Amino acid sequence: MAEQHSSSISNTVTRALEAFIASSPKNVSAEALSVVSDLVKSYKSMLPPNLFFEAVEQSPVAISITDPAANILYANQNFHRVTGYSVSEVIGKNESMLSNKTTPRIVYETLWGRIRQQKPWSGTLVNRRKDGTRYLAELTISPVLDAKGRTTHYLGIHRDVTEVNSLSKQVNYQKKLIESVVDASPVITALLDETGKVMLDNMEYKKLAGDMRGREPAKEFLAALQEVLGDDFAGLRDRKLNFHQREISFDPGGGGQPRCFNCSGSWIESMDDSADAFFEMKKTRYLLLVASEITALKRQQHDVQMNAMRALMAEEELVQSMREALSGAIYQLQGPVNLISAATNMQERRADIENPESRALLSALREALRAGQTALLTLQACVPESSPETPEILNINLILREVLSLTTERMLQQGIVIDWQPAMTLPMVAGRAKRLRSMFKQLIDNAIDAMATGKSPVKSLLIKTQAMDNELDVTIQDSGPGIPEALRNKVFEPFFTTKGSSGKQAGMGLSMVQEVINQHAGSIRIDPNYNSGCRFEIRLPLSKTFINED
Ligand code: FAD
Repeated sequence: MAEQHSSSISNTVTRALEAFIASSPKNVSAEALSVVSDLVKSYKSMLPPNLFFEAVEQSPVAISITDPAANILYANQNFHRVTGYSVSEVIGKNESMLSNKTTPRIVYETLWGRIRQQKPWSGTLVNRRKDGTRYLAELTISPVLDAKGRTTHYLGIHRDVTEVNSLSKQVNYQKKLIESVVDASPVITALLDETGKVMLDNMEYKKLAGDMRGREPAKEFLAALQEVLGDDFAGLRDRKLNFHQREISFDPGGGGQPRCFNCSGSWIESMDDSADAFFEMKKTRYLLLVASEITALKRQQHDVQMNAMRALMAEEELVQSMREALSGAIYQLQGPVNLISAATNMQERRADIENPESRALLSALREALRAGQTALLTLQACVPESSPETPEILNINLILREVLSLTTERMLQQGIVIDWQPAMTLPMVAGRAKRLRSMFKQLIDNAIDAMATGKSPVKSLLIKTQAMDNELDVTIQDSGPGIPEALRNKVFEPFFTTKGSSGKQAGMGLSMVQEVINQHAGSIRIDPNYNSGCRFEIRLPLSKTFINED
């Protein structure tokens, strides 16, 4: 009321002065009139005195002004709406009338401690309305100082935040629940933003991070996925396509064995909650990576595979040695049978049919020839056939790695250093896996045997693959005594051996190698320019139509 009154007085004074200037009084100097005119202008430009009062009165928050002991001197309309008390019911009462008496004492002590130091305080209190219902009051109290710096009043502004608080608590509880579920999950889980930064992870992820001594597993996962998926990974990322059960592996560092994982990824969209995105709906995308470790399973699978291969190779070697032994026996028998055949021919031409002795000799020779030929046929029939094998598309690096795994133990025993240099990308070739495996094993076994007999203290085996224009090169190089130049072609002949006549070596190994190479329309040679051991150079064509039939 007082404010309204003062406002109407100022309006009256302003109007009176304007009328005074408009009347252009003769006895007043122009200078004095200009001063009065300026006064009216500045008066009109001033905010009306009741504006502040109305602004506070109509404010959408509950506002109260108290004396220094928190006795209420003024409360606005919204104070009534929030608390249920009419203005007349609160004037002269202490603000404590709003207390539900459940706010911890320490909160009030802090509140008073701060406002008595003439600093504003903000916090949340449990208040009770006139009807007894409780609400959460988000309250700010600001001390009001006089010209001498003494606190004369407190200004309290509060609003009911019960609903907001309940919603924010619900969101918080849900977040905590999700975090607990993700944490309890037995698979590695991490949520990455578009830059690859981890926004959320679980215990399994943290365990892996611990094993990797500070290296970020997410980075390793992304790099390994990039490697496995190649250009597809960029496509998946750009088009936000999910991927499932991709097998990846990476080195955990610290000299540990590579670890293998089955990794899936799903893109998740979320609304951007930054200030920039307040009016413009912006989406943020996250990649949810889920991985389960399969290192133990892979090792087990590898062991089973290696054992199966060992058994297969042992069987093949047995068949091979039987073929060698029987071929050797046939070769040995062929000589005498040829002699008997020649002698029979001679006797047939010279024989005197009438002479009983001559007839008996011829008959004996014929008998011996028949027996010899029968024995040869029997032996030839006994030579085991190599098992039929269908050609398939093969990765030669993989075959060599398998053979290396089979021979690693032998090489370690002999202190042979393996230098394995596979081509990073090797085109696939069509071939017969078992035969190629046996062939490479024969060459590597030969190299190991050669180095065992050699005198060089350094024993090293280099195995290298290379992709050329339309062929694939494999180098197998040992640091053994090498093969003398004169024998370099002979060693591929059947029954030729440089390993002495112990009878153990039939000299069929390299002839088998040559046979497999021929079947694959390839070539093999011993590098004549290599003098520090023996270097075999094998070439296999990349064409798919080259395989010779059995
Ligand atoms: P009290 O015995 O009144 O106070 C508890 C503790 O507060 C005391 O131990 C003491 O440390 C401190 N204290 C209280 N009064 C004073 C004082 N005058 N000087 C120094 N320290 C003091 N409380 C609410 O519960 N809800 C509100 O909405 C609310 N609004 C307020 C608005 C303003 C502008 C101000 C200044 C205070 C407000 N208060 C409010 C605080 C209120 O005045 C009481 O302090 C509080 O409600 C506790 O009251 P009580 O009767 O339980 O305990």
